[in-house]
Amino acid sequence: MRTRLYGRVLIDESECDNKIHINFNGVIKMVILKKTYKFRAYPSKEQKAILNRQMLLCKELYNHLLEKAKEHFRDTGKTFTKYDMVKWVTKFKKEHSEYNGVYSQVLQNVPDRLSKAYKNFFRRAKEKRGGKKVKVGFPRFRNFVSSLTYPQSGFKIERKRIGLSKVGMINFVNHREIEGKIKTLSVKKTKSGEWYVTISVEKEDIVPFTNGKEAVGIDLGITNYAALSDGKVLQNKDVSNKERKTLRRLQKSISRRKKGSKNRKKSAFRFARYSEHISRIREDNLHKLSYYLVHSYSFIAYEELRIANMVRNRHLAKSISESSWGNFAQMLQYKAESAGCVAVGVNPQNTSKTCSECGNVQEMPLSERTFNCGKCGLNIDRDLNASKNILKRATSGQGGSHASGDSASAPQKESASRIVESGTTLGVSR
Ligand SMILES: [Zn+2]
Repeated sequence: MRTRLYGRVLIDESECDNKIHINFNGVIKMVILKKTYKFRAYPSKEQKAILNRQMLLCKELYNHLLEKAKEHFRDTGKTFTKYDMVKWVTKFKKEHSEYNGVYSQVLQNVPDRLSKAYKNFFRRAKEKRGGKKVKVGFPRFRNFVSSLTYPQSGFKIERKRIGLSKVGMINFVNHREIEGKIKTLSVKKTKSGEWYVTISVEKEDIVPFTNGKEAVGIDLGITNYAALSDGKVLQNKDVSNKERKTLRRLQKSISRRKKGSKNRKKSAFRFARYSEHISRIREDNLHKLSYYLVHSYSFIAYEELRIANMVRNRHLAKSISESSWGNFAQMLQYKAESAGCVAVGVNPQNTSKTCSECGNVQEMPLSERTFNCGKCGLNIDRDLNASKNILKRATSGQGGSHASGDSASAPQKESASRIVESGTTLGVSR
């Protein structure tokens, strides 16, 4: 089976006859869907102790490895490669018998993590040299490690329990069936002491190329969560003011307690538990919103917000972090894949300041809710204007039903895939 990369999806060549390039409607594609399942887990007291101890050992291993990598660079001027790291870990394990208590693949995930940290560091350094405003940040020593990852083996999933090598059978809430090929399994502990098992899978699936619906641009604004270019406004059902107040009260109570005291610990625990509760509500809302969008439209253009741009505006930064913007973009991307939809991130520059009718650029202070064009006289809601510009940008000036119907042609599709790829880098840099 020949496959080739088409945007972010792999298409089976045999499905890929000429029809695809002329008319996307009714054509199917093969995609590799990546999905992560999350289950609540209830390890016993003994198992918790074992897991905590293993996390501690992994933390120490990580820090030793980082030290070694730095030393290596200092002495030789060369990068400590992942191959070197893996070899070093094997040797280190032989010399430290306490590491026999950790499953070998879990230990070998530590070089994975560090080499990823290095890769990100080099990527950011390159971006900075290219003139991008990013913090480079060398990989740092870790204060704690709160998850263990089994890359391929060492686990066994039963109906109500998950068996982990060197840990035992852990009870978990199996609330949905796992479909697909398991790639990794991780055990995680949250700050409030809840345990989760996350399972990443890959599954080949045949999905329609397009759901045949319209194209839309979305503006993630401050007042409304999302303004759509077709005039719809989707309200963000964010957490209530009461919940926000409670969170703030719990946060304040930590600083009132004496450092190192038992009460301070208790307060910190309550705060952690409550903020986890709130982020679950938010995540749930974002899931619902992104689900609605990918099933209602065939093409979604959204702003690729850059963290560096947001920090300059405190008001904006607050609203965006609160609505977990990056998380939302990622959800759109992966949900779109299986829903016959394409989600594309576009450059956010001047989307609010540009007239969606004539292209005139003018100043638009944040307080101004209506866009009054000084050139063509267009009078339109600020967010609606922005969302129209966002859609235009993704379709290179050609708005309307881009991805649906006969008008979709190969060059357009290609430009869209290109933007998709630049859009996904944001998810990584977050
Ligand atoms: Zn105008």
